[in-house]
Amino acid sequence: MEQSFIMIKPDGVQRGLVGEVISRFEKRGFYLKGLKLITVERSFAEKHYEDLAAKPFFAGLVDYIISGPVVAMVWEGKGVVATGRKMIGATNPLNSEPGTIRGDLAIEVGRNVIHGSDSIESARKEIALWFPEGLFDWKSNLHPWIYE
Ligand code: UDP
Ligand code: MG
Repeated sequence: MEQSFIMIKPDGVQRGLVGEVISRFEKRGFYLKGLKLITVERSFAEKHYEDLAAKPFFAGLVDYIISGPVVAMVWEGKGVVATGRKMIGATNPLNSEPGTIRGDLAIEVGRNVIHGSDSIESARKEIALWFPEGLFDWKSNLHPWIYE
């Protein structure tokens, strides 16, 4: 089944939003397949955001991501990449719809609480980068109550 890499950024951890974010993904019906609290090195953050290296905000973005521990997660389920992005909301929280994570919990683009993979291909790359040790293979007994 489809998987997405979801990360609660340092501001989300500092603000005590870990439970809130996890709860939204759990309640929607996605399955948690990997989870860790870690602080990453500058070079690792640069690798994660390598596609944005030419952007003017890149240096500030990397400083932000390495400023404290993050919660790295893999969530699994039908359509989790696209649905995860919808749940997260627009990149700039001022444009994020109320009801989305950023639309409910953030104000600034450089403090927007959460990352989510933007395609199945980037999810695959990001999961390989963040979880080289692999994931948990388990199945929820609730599966038939969520999926037809
Ligand atoms: N970002 C920023 N300024 C911008 C655009 C993006 O600080 O003008 C940060 C923001 O934290 C965003 C991250 O860079 O979440 C990655 O940008 P991307 O365009 O990939 O947005 P996302 O996929 O996170 O919505
Ligand atoms: Mg992105």
